[in-house]
Formats: sequence, C-alpha cells, structure tokens
Amino acid sequence: MTGIDISFEFFPPRSPDAVARLEQTRARLNAWRPSFFSVTFGAGGSTRELTLETAQAVTAATGVDCAPHISCLGTPQAELRAVIQRYVDVGIKRVVALRGDMPSGLTGFGELRYASELVAFIRQEAGDAFHIEVAAYPEFHPQATTAAADLQHFKTKVEAGANSAITQYFYNPDAYFRFLDSCAALGISLPIVPGIMPITNFSQLMRFSEMCGAEVPRWIVKRLRDFGDDREAIRAFGIDVTSALCERLVSGGAPGLHFYTMNQHEAATAILTNIGVNSSHGRQLDANHSPPAVD
Ligand code: FAD
Repeated sequence: MTGIDISFEFFPPRSPDAVARLEQTRARLNAWRPSFFSVTFGAGGSTRELTLETAQAVTAATGVDCAPHISCLGTPQAELRAVIQRYVDVGIKRVVALRGDMPSGLTGFGELRYASELVAFIRQEAGDAFHIEVAAYPEFHPQATTAAADLQHFKTKVEAGANSAITQYFYNPDAYFRFLDSCAALGISLPIVPGIMPITNFSQLMRFSEMCGAEVPRWIVKRLRDFGDDREAIRAFGIDVTSALCERLVSGGAPGLHFYTMNQHEAATAILTNIGVNSSHGRQLDANHSPPAVD
C-alpha cells in the first residue's frame, strides 16, 4: 500500500492562551510526520503579520514547512507584492493562494479578482520560489454560475502555475471522485488532496457549512441534532463518520488528507489512528492502530 501525505491547517492564534494551545497542538500533530502545515490568512489581509509569524513559529518548532495562506480580494497589488517579497525573504517554500472573500465593510475588489490572477502574479513576482497550493471545490464553489464554468475556472487557476490543490471539506466521497474524473477529462493532472473537517461541534459545523457552501448530508444533520448538548456523543459520532470518509477516500486513491484542525489535535489524531495511518508518513500494511509517540 502506498503512503499518503498528511497536512494540518491552523489559524493564527490571537491570545496567549490560544498561542499555548497551538504550541501543544502542533507538537502532537508533528508526531504524524506531516508533509506540511498551513496557516490561514484573514480576509483582506487582516492577519498578514500574524499569519507569517505563526507559520515561522510552527516551522521553527517542528522542522516542517508551514505554508502561509495569501488571499487577494480587497488587497491592492502593491501590498500583495510586499507580502510575496516578505515570504521570499524569510525563506517560505510553500503558499496556499486564494481569492478570499470580501471582508465586511469593504466594497472594492482590489486589482486581482480571482485566485488564478493571484497565482499568475505570484509566479511573475517570485518565479518558482514557492510550491503553490490552490483551493478546489468537489461540490462546486457557492458563487459558481455552473459546474462546467467552475471546472474551467479551476483549470485556468491550475494552468496559471499551481502545483497542487486542497479541497473544500465535504462528507460525500462521490462528489470528490466525480470531481477527479472531471478534472482528468479536462487534462488537469495535479494532486487534489481532500480537505477534512472533523465533526466535533454541531452548531459550528452548520455555521461554517452555510458560509462556505459545503453540504452536510441530511442523515448526519438529523443524527447530530438528536444528540442535543451531549458533546461526547457528537464527538464520537463525528469521529466515526469522518474516519469512514477518510478510509473511503484513501482506499479510492486520494493522494493525501489535509485536516482543518481548528487548532485542536484530538479529532485528527483519533481519525488517523482509526484509519491506520502511521507516523512514517503513510499507512502500514498491518496497521497496529496505535498513535505515534509525541517527539
Ligand atoms: P477562485 O478560484 O478565484 O474562485 C472563486 C469563484 O470565482 C468561483 O466561483 C469561480 O468559479 C469563479 N471564477 C474564477 N475565475 C473566474 C473568472 N475568470 N471569471 C468568472 N468567474 C471566475 N479564505 C480566506 O480568506 N483565508 C484563507 O486562509 C483561506 N483558506 C482556504 C483554504 C482552503 C483549502 C480552501 C478550500 C478555502 C480557503 N479559503 C480561505 C476560502 C476561500 O477564500 C473562499 O472559498 C473563496 O470564496 C474562493 O477562493 P478561491 O481561491 O477558491 O477563488
């Protein structure tokens, strides 16, 4: 069985407690020997410094590349140029390039309107300094006019210079495999890694999914609702469902798993343990299903 690449996404912590929590999280997750970590970028560049600081701190503590995200909507080109240059100067090797969403209160789009334009701009400014990740949407982007148009826009973004893609989260593996088939039919051949959102909190999941257009299947919603305030039951069910999803994705040939960790290590650890991933960067033939020791 071939190995799979694991990666973990964080958001920049904003308080001393949150910083301490992330330090613990990154140490625990580093035991899985991830290919990389990544750190989100606030809409309109609102976390610009914090994103980079967090990414640098993660790499310094773990020895693993940490990709700062960068988004273009609502940010002038000159500012983006400065961010890209700073990433080059401090030795960043990988970035996640996104359009982003319009920050509330802002109306102008900035000069770059789509992620494909940002990817082209990064290549123009920094050449091959970075491995560029882009976003993909197996259930299609909520603003897409048609599925076919969304796929064409994805192809344009890839051809602008992306190296690999991470998907929005989803709970229907068929959407992912169909998306891969459509990409292959269009001649898109870069690795497309599923983004995994562990289910741990019902109201938060519904709020995020409403915002980003991810579908939570009705049967999952119904069951989660039945658990009411029983957090332990929600967590156990959520880990069960997400583990089964990951198992299906990996056995169907997904090249890796990218976890939206919400700066917590417990759920990702439980899922990776359940599906028999080991700490040597992939799955064992005879998985012993025990988590690796923390370094
Ligand atoms: P695009 O690829 O530009 O697509 C956006 C929409 O525009 C799509 O509907 C597409 O079909 C359409 N489109 C593209 N090109 C054209 C064109 N030429 N003409 C007409 N329509 C076009 N957001 C953040 O703010 N910070 C983050 O750190 C962040 N990290 C993320 C990480 C991942 C892995 C994912 C999946 C999403 C992340 N997001 C983040 C959310 C993302 O910014 C939003 O989903 C955003 O709405 C779209 O970004 P995109 O890069 O996919 O945009």
